[in-house]
Amino acid sequence: MTPPPARRTQGFRESVIRGMSRLAARHGAINLAQGFPNFPAPELLKEAAARAIRDDINQYAITWGARRLREAVARKYHAWYGMTVDPEAEVTVTCGATEAMIAALLALVNPGDEVIVFEPFYENYGPDTILCDAAPVYLPLLPGEPLDLDRLARAFTPRTRAIILNSPANPSGRVLTRAELEGIAELCRRHDAWAVTDEIYEHIRYGAPHIPIATLPGMAERTITISGASKTFSITGWRLGTIVAPAGATDAIRKVHDFLTVGAPAPLQEALATAMDELGPAYYDEMAAAYLRRRGMLGDALSRAGFGVTLPEGAYYILADFSRLSDLPDTAFAEWLARERGVAPVPGSSFFSRPELGRRYVRFVFCKTDDLLTEAAARLEGAGLREAKDLQR
Ligand code: GLN
Repeated sequence: MTPPPARRTQGFRESVIRGMSRLAARHGAINLAQGFPNFPAPELLKEAAARAIRDDINQYAITWGARRLREAVARKYHAWYGMTVDPEAEVTVTCGATEAMIAALLALVNPGDEVIVFEPFYENYGPDTILCDAAPVYLPLLPGEPLDLDRLARAFTPRTRAIILNSPANPSGRVLTRAELEGIAELCRRHDAWAVTDEIYEHIRYGAPHIPIATLPGMAERTITISGASKTFSITGWRLGTIVAPAGATDAIRKVHDFLTVGAPAPLQEALATAMDELGPAYYDEMAAAYLRRRGMLGDALSRAGFGVTLPEGAYYILADFSRLSDLPDTAFAEWLARERGVAPVPGSSFFSRPELGRRYVRFVFCKTDDLLTEAAARLEGAGLREAKDLQR
């Protein structure tokens, strides 16, 4: 008999998103489950990385991030959002936004605290909170629906330490409006709570502006602004995340980060600094335009196949309602679609605190080449999903 694992690992399960990627591979299905692009990263970025390795930038960078990259991050926040950020005291580079989020929460949240999380959520936030021995408190924020600020006000308690904000949101596609952000900011100030943001999709939007909550009055001092390079530059495997936070919080976060990972890959940090300095507005405009086209392709295909679709305002996911197509629970339907129709989504229940809330949804990604989206569309539409209803039982 082996000794038991720690109790804290029992409060959450393995990532369903990554599990669906394995299932897609097993069935040879098109993987529209895990959100990673299948198209190349910018040439300039790849060249810069290769050059950095050849130049022997191959040892540890400064734990909290190579100076060049921290300076590029500070310039970015100033240029895009008018924020004044000190690269020496307020910027930390991490192994992806994923490490940024857990490092920030471990640095700020005490055991027994509460952390507010909107659902549907990206699946890390609950486990991150539980690893802090804190309790997630869930509130609905659905595709196409406004935030219920009265309900949010009632969710704050004396134990609320932080609220996690993901805008543009995975998987709902919601982009928080200025009015919604002002309402949230007011509650954070009133209850002396942190806003911990995941802004990884900040440049993938379809018209709505991106407003970091840190730019609202009184919020810079209580906001941890997280972002990263994975989605903006199509390099999810490089694992480069960034944190902007007030100096005191940054000190605490850097300590946690140091003992979690020491630091992010040094040559890749150099390459990212080069890309951030050299890629101009045209790069970001073209990327957003390409995603708008892909959103249209997948959205049309899903509608034609009979799914209920609300187009996202940002990010690259569609949380589609399949209740007109099947009575199966979401997990069985997602597995059936991967196995029998060759397109793998993520079951909706993995984005909700209670599985029944996600029962009628599956999530598809559209961060894929036109070829692959065209093939996926043909499989979804041509298969006559409506007619196959009985076969699914
Ligand atoms: N953010 C991506 C998604 O939601 C990738 C998740 C992951 O595997 N880290 O699919």
